[in-house]
Amino acid sequence: MRKPIIAGNWKMYKTVAESVAFAKQLNEKLKGIQDREIVIAPTFIATASVIDALRFSNIQVATQDAHWENEGAYTSSISPASLKGLGIKYVILGHSEKRQFDNETDERVNRKLKNVLKNGLKAIVCVGETLQERESGKTEKVIENQLKGCLEGIGLGDLASIVIAYEPVWAIGTGKNATPEQANEVHAFIRGLVAKKYNSEAAGNIRIQYGGSVKPENVKQLMAQPDIDGALVGGASLKVDSFEALVRF
Ligand code: PEP
Repeated sequence: MRKPIIAGNWKMYKTVAESVAFAKQLNEKLKGIQDREIVIAPTFIATASVIDALRFSNIQVATQDAHWENEGAYTSSISPASLKGLGIKYVILGHSEKRQFDNETDERVNRKLKNVLKNGLKAIVCVGETLQERESGKTEKVIENQLKGCLEGIGLGDLASIVIAYEPVWAIGTGKNATPEQANEVHAFIRGLVAKKYNSEAAGNIRIQYGGSVKPENVKQLMAQPDIDGALVGGASLKVDSFEALVRF
């Protein structure tokens, strides 16, 4: 059985004070829910305060990136070792906005993933095609290459600490979501790739989230698909009622 996982990516939204207030409100609303994982990813600067606000909560905290080294001359970078010490559970890697604006590559995601895992953290690894790639029939090739690069050298034993997020770039922040069937088709393809690289048990166990304009109005249909195990949500995770509705799908 794959436990559903609903994650909110706050991107560069909310001040520290707003983040803490929001986390406390969410905590009240989502208390006691145990049959699904709930994750929020505030800005780095709000991370410690949000973790403090969520002591003993069923809401887990993620960051939106982490470095491939634990220390060194890497100005502005964030060490996964520090994140572990703080109580972070997940790290989002390879988000399309990092790929687009910070030149993130599959090779860097792979190095970061290895270090995140080495530090005992879990990862949400994002993959997804652009509109142009979809329209020219390259979706599967793109996803296959991204997954191959991101998972290079990752052993079977580490798969339980990895969630894949399929996020078609054309659906992120655009209001255009993939239809549940379109999303499920790619999720099934990803599961097939995991079966090929590892084995069918690993493919059956790995969780694959969909991301791209998920909202309270479409989450139920998406979650009803057999290969969709969760959602990675940007815009609709920024309001308490909306995120609550997503978690409760
Ligand atoms: C995201 O940030 O990962 C995302 C999917 O954003 P949105 O839900 O706003 O499309």
